[in-house]
Amino acid sequence: MASVGNCPIRVWVRLLLALTGAVALCGPAPAGAATLRINESMCHAVSDLGKGDAEINALRYVCAGSPDDYQQRSLWLRTDLRQIGVGRGGAALMVHHSRFDRLAVAFSYADGTVRWQQVRHGNYGLHWRTGGQIVFEAPERSVPLIAVTMRFDRLASHELVRAHLLSRDQSGLRSAGMAAVVGAALTLLLVSCIYSLSLAIAVRRQYLAWQAAWAAAMLLWGGLWSQVHLALLPSMAGTVSARICTFLACLAIALATASAVTGLDRSGISRRIRVATLGLGLTVGVAGIPLALMQSGDIDRWADLLGLVILGDLVAVASCLLWAWRRGSPEARDFAASWGLPMAILAFINLVDVDDNFWGGGSKLLILVAATWQALWLSAAATRRLAHLRIERDRARAAEAQARELAGRDPLTGLSNRRGFIENVTSLLDRARSDRLPAALLVVDIDRFKSINDIYGHEAGDKVLCTIAHRLAQWEGPACAAARLGGEEFGVLAIGMEGVALDRFAESMRREIAACDHSETIGDRLVTVSVGVAEVQPACDFQRLYRIADHALYEAKHAGRDQVVLQRFASGVGSTSDYPMEDLRLAGTAR
Ligand code: GH3
Ligand code: MG
Ligand code: MG
Repeated sequence: MASVGNCPIRVWVRLLLALTGAVALCGPAPAGAATLRINESMCHAVSDLGKGDAEINALRYVCAGSPDDYQQRSLWLRTDLRQIGVGRGGAALMVHHSRFDRLAVAFSYADGTVRWQQVRHGNYGLHWRTGGQIVFEAPERSVPLIAVTMRFDRLASHELVRAHLLSRDQSGLRSAGMAAVVGAALTLLLVSCIYSLSLAIAVRRQYLAWQAAWAAAMLLWGGLWSQVHLALLPSMAGTVSARICTFLACLAIALATASAVTGLDRSGISRRIRVATLGLGLTVGVAGIPLALMQSGDIDRWADLLGLVILGDLVAVASCLLWAWRRGSPEARDFAASWGLPMAILAFINLVDVDDNFWGGGSKLLILVAATWQALWLSAAATRRLAHLRIERDRARAAEAQARELAGRDPLTGLSNRRGFIENVTSLLDRARSDRLPAALLVVDIDRFKSINDIYGHEAGDKVLCTIAHRLAQWEGPACAAARLGGEEFGVLAIGMEGVALDRFAESMRREIAACDHSETIGDRLVTVSVGVAEVQPACDFQRLYRIADHALYEAKHAGRDQVVLQRFASGVGSTSDYPMEDLRLAGTAR
């Protein structure tokens, strides 16, 4: 079955169904609440800015068609409550904030009394609520409320106005629901932003930096759109925030595009598609600037045009992901999974008008939730990818350690080879030197080994080597290391052994090797060894020790083989020949 990331398409279908269900549940405004629309429940009038609020009843309201020529004037929107009615417990008008200089709301009562409340660009007073709502609560009076009138001064577009009339209880419930959802979404976006930024710095990946920037842009957009920022900066109420929101929304799309395209392996997509997609993303980002600055005029037409470019950008990003996915890019799967829901939601809100749903948060709230999902998914995908990298790094390190271990080991006998031996004994000698302990190197060479090869064959010679190596390995310990130095020559380094103890050790080694049983390979032929021993107090480096031991071995061979020759030195500065030498010959059984 085709799948998106690790999620089968079925899951996505279910998600969309759940979304549709949620819309149905949050559904149309609850009983007793009314959505106010021009032409349906609101009549409109346009006046000069200079006209006083008291003229409210003197205006000629039109209940058909759309208002025009109001951007530099006042637009009055009046609702007759005798026709729609509001639930008990007092009425509240919730207006989604928009671009205007002033919004004054008049509650008209049956006895002719009109009570005004107002907010201004830069000062929403106590009327703002999390989730982008401005709430006006009708003063409770004994006479019925018969009309609500909104007066917008210098409104950018009447199409941006969303107003709901509901009871005070419902208004409180909506505000609390919005605050909870918006708070959770903004917190998760903040966490994801910090996480992506930390990852970008730690692993130096460009797409993670774009991702962090995108999450930051969405966080700011969410904070501004939902008016959370007014708790800290009340003077930003109104047009300034709405403008920044427009710019941030465009910037976020540009950053998300950059993150998706740079996150894909370069070989995964053609250069032309890549550049075209980045170009479209950049266009959306740049187009956000003039659109944010627009106060009136063609704002709706430009917004529609930008919508087309955004659609093109989404199609281009989807093409990149599909292209890379078909080429087996795991990054493409992750991005497709994270972009899938926001894309589906964008398509959904273009097909279905949900702006009166979700406690009045509508499409904006859905976008915020989708962005949070996208941020979390991208963070999880980045973590998973890093986990893979860590596993691969651990495997590479283990393989490297194994290769190093093999490089220091003799494949025939399993003992360390000369290279491994030098590596091992260097640390032992360093420790002995700092503790001022003596060190002894015993070089063990099989006597007349060549003749064993000649008589019994190379294979038999190998077995003899292995038997002797096996015996030598039994002396290995924390202060004693053994190795095959090459051919039929072995080395044993002993730390902390000196004098008579060392003599005895070397002699017993010679004897025990000679006593090894080779009857299966070479019958009853005796295999003896000559041992050259260098004893230095305190320890010196390996090369010096080896030179002295080799010299002692030469002496042992020269003196007839099957014996130990020990040379004892007091370590000092200068070459080996500077050392005062004491040559001890330990008798063996010459053949
Ligand atoms: P000496 O008593 O003077 O040490 O005489 P020797 O024959 O032991 O020494 P020589 O250096 O003349 O010969 C060493 C032989 O060891 C020659 C070589 O073929 C053999 N040899 C070296 N490496 C191996 C090996 O891995 N397997 C076998 N079977 N023989 C080896
Ligand atoms: Mg030999
Ligand atoms: Mg030799």
